[in-house]
Amino acid sequence: MCYSIPGRVVKVENKQIVLDYFGEKKVAINELGNIREGDYVFAQGGFVIEKVNAIEAEEILAGWKERFAELKAIDRKLSWSIVDGADFQVDSLSTYLSTDSESELKHICDIANRIRYKHLGNSCCVHGIIEFSNYCRNNCYYCGIRCDNMTLKRYRMSISEIVACAEYAVNNLGFRALVLQSGEDMYYTDDMLAEIISRIRDVCNTLIIVSVGSRSEECYKEMYGAGARGALIRFETSNLELYKKYHIGPKADWNHRFGLIKSAKDMGYLVATGSIIGLPGQTITDVLNDILLTKELGAEMYSFGPFIPHPNTPLAGNTSPNINLVLKTIAVSRMVSPNAKILVTTALETLDPEGLRKGLMAGANSFMINVTPEKYRRLYDIYPRAHKNIEAKIKDTIEILQSLGRAPSDFGI
Ligand code: SAH
Repeated sequence: MCYSIPGRVVKVENKQIVLDYFGEKKVAINELGNIREGDYVFAQGGFVIEKVNAIEAEEILAGWKERFAELKAIDRKLSWSIVDGADFQVDSLSTYLSTDSESELKHICDIANRIRYKHLGNSCCVHGIIEFSNYCRNNCYYCGIRCDNMTLKRYRMSISEIVACAEYAVNNLGFRALVLQSGEDMYYTDDMLAEIISRIRDVCNTLIIVSVGSRSEECYKEMYGAGARGALIRFETSNLELYKKYHIGPKADWNHRFGLIKSAKDMGYLVATGSIIGLPGQTITDVLNDILLTKELGAEMYSFGPFIPHPNTPLAGNTSPNINLVLKTIAVSRMVSPNAKILVTTALETLDPEGLRKGLMAGANSFMINVTPEKYRRLYDIYPRAHKNIEAKIKDTIEILQSLGRAPSDFGI
């Protein structure tokens, strides 16, 4: 199984290299050194991850060539021909988010999907996620791992367990990008987080995206120094009043979190951010502001997922939003950011078993597969969700991607 297609280097300009994928050219940053024209590499999120031996690369490419053309044809049929010459109106974004009409929803999704096809082709990036600790110092009103939830059995993976899990995901399952996520668990010192990252990089080649919450800027600097290149930190909501209402914790202040997202960007991280859609009290204007704030931040990856009520939280009695609101959020995000990676979140897949397919048809081009060891997976209980065995999940996912004509790859930015 392989989640990335090797690219052939056609130009090297200092750290920037141009890669060719079956005739498509993409740019990536090379921090490995020693890459020449004619070499083959795997790239993820715009970074060169690994040099690939030419014979191996040509074998993989030969295996992909026909399939790639077939997939592109399916994708084109499903996206390009649908809305003829239609474009979106900036002034209409709020109307798009508000509509209750199924036919309008389809039209909005079709426009977004067409933009995705035009700007990004059929490549789809598939990240693995390791949820390594469910301890959290915060007490967010919606979250099942909030520190006041005494019914939850807590776990922490040891450094060696995390490294072994990452190594298996990359070397055995074929992932080339991994998210390391946890509650805000200060048991892991900055040095420990850096050690986890550098030890993973010692045993496998992967893009590492950290998702450890509102830690200090120094911590993010140290993690970058150790080799992390992506940071997933949602601002959760752009409505400060709503934020204040639901977030309780030592570093739960909106300004701190928002400042951290900006600093991560300045440090050179690929930034993944976004919000929860459907929080009680949130309005359509808030959702639009969330999308526009994500754009303003220059995020490389947009992450919008529905609120899912957790029974052991103060928001237990509330309901999730209609899936259509999440699809409209994805579609409008695509309209304002044609080149971004837009995620189908696990929460969206939880809300609707067809969530992945629907999200990908609404303009999304990216998603995650949970690779946390079986024995811990149920305990990372941020919201109630079903847990599939990894191999079964990968198989289902590949089927969905193939039926939509998407290639599980990530071609750089
Ligand atoms: N400690 C990290 C990871 C938090 S969990 C951090 O602070 O970024 C990852 C995300 O899950 C959160 O950012 C939040 O947006 C989402 N989440 C938590 N509980 C949720 C719920 N009940 N419904 C939907 N999303 C939720």
